[in-house]
Amino acid sequence: MVHLFNAIDELLTPWLKERGQGAYRLGQVRRWLFAQRVRDFREMTDLPQALRDELARDFTLWSSQIERHTQAEDGTEKLLLTLADGGQIECVLLRDRVPSGWRRTICISTQVGCGMGCVFCASGLEGLARNLTTGEIVEQMLRLQLLLDPDERLSHIVVMGMGEPLANLNALLPALEEASRDDGLGISARRITISTVGLPVAMRRLAETNPRYRLAVSLHAPNDELRHRIVPVSKKIPLTEILAEADHYFERSGRRLTFEYVLLAGINDSPAQAVELAELLAGRTALLNVIPYNPVAGLPYHTPSAAAQRAFRDVLEARGVSVQFRHRKGDAIDAACGQLRRRLSVEGQESRAGIVGA
Ligand code: SAH
Repeated sequence: MVHLFNAIDELLTPWLKERGQGAYRLGQVRRWLFAQRVRDFREMTDLPQALRDELARDFTLWSSQIERHTQAEDGTEKLLLTLADGGQIECVLLRDRVPSGWRRTICISTQVGCGMGCVFCASGLEGLARNLTTGEIVEQMLRLQLLLDPDERLSHIVVMGMGEPLANLNALLPALEEASRDDGLGISARRITISTVGLPVAMRRLAETNPRYRLAVSLHAPNDELRHRIVPVSKKIPLTEILAEADHYFERSGRRLTFEYVLLAGINDSPAQAVELAELLAGRTALLNVIPYNPVAGLPYHTPSAAAQRAFRDVLEARGVSVQFRHRKGDAIDAACGQLRRRLSVEGQESRAGIVGA
């Protein structure tokens, strides 16, 4: 069976032609999938019954299974998906009230596991298993859209789930194309943010080929020495190079950059480090997104106290950095990506250990 979301147009165009069907059928299928939010070819009621049957025979829409669906009181919902080969990924729907109304942001994954090895992160603990396909990325978007009430619409996408998006651009870019097309999800590119650990070659490729999206760069440290310890992949990549590529992306895209900084108690949260960070970012049109650490089962890191967070923020603000502390949503359901999969696997090990011990 062919997974249709891998390349909807390229797969359906010749398929319809072979059957003597007009090209407009492609538009009908797309409308059902993206706008009408159907789950099945059978529901595509303006297609002839025989065509619906044939589509269902030749193509599959859903390649994954929902392993868990969790909901938090703040409206956050999270899916743990099991892929055809048994790999697991997570994706999240966040509902936010903003002055202009509601936002419905989805956070999607690009890899099973992650090869970057950031020491505090749940996704990379077992390394990288594989890249996701375009179809598996599109599928997350559509599965999350299916969680909405009929009067709700997706407004934003953040590629901040499991994995390093810039290590899987070949699959990600066509998926984001489906997200931003008018006959796709219709989410404007400026509402789509790709978050990267900072891979210069891929940042350059994105700047040259697709500077439409917002770029977020995960810093986590104000100097190379500390960054090498927190973000091991950075040992080969100095901050100056990452910042130069980020600046280049800004020139090409005209979109304000975001820098992310996970605040870890006693590691990167001192006022002196805030000064160093402010100096590093000086002169840039950028937003600094500080994320107080979300504890991960089994890891020895801690969230800084409210006072430490305040002190860190005060230093940055006094130096003119645009800073935003990302308030945590969906804590109760381990909404930070990688965390649910992690907790389930730790629980699994504990219960297996329990059986062995009994
Ligand atoms: N590989 C991409 C996307 C990762 S997830 C990147 O590195 O940017 C998006 C953000 O969440 C990253 O900044 C990542 O460092 C951060 N993050 C990962 N685990 C976290 C945790 N336990 N608490 C808070 N932020 C975390």
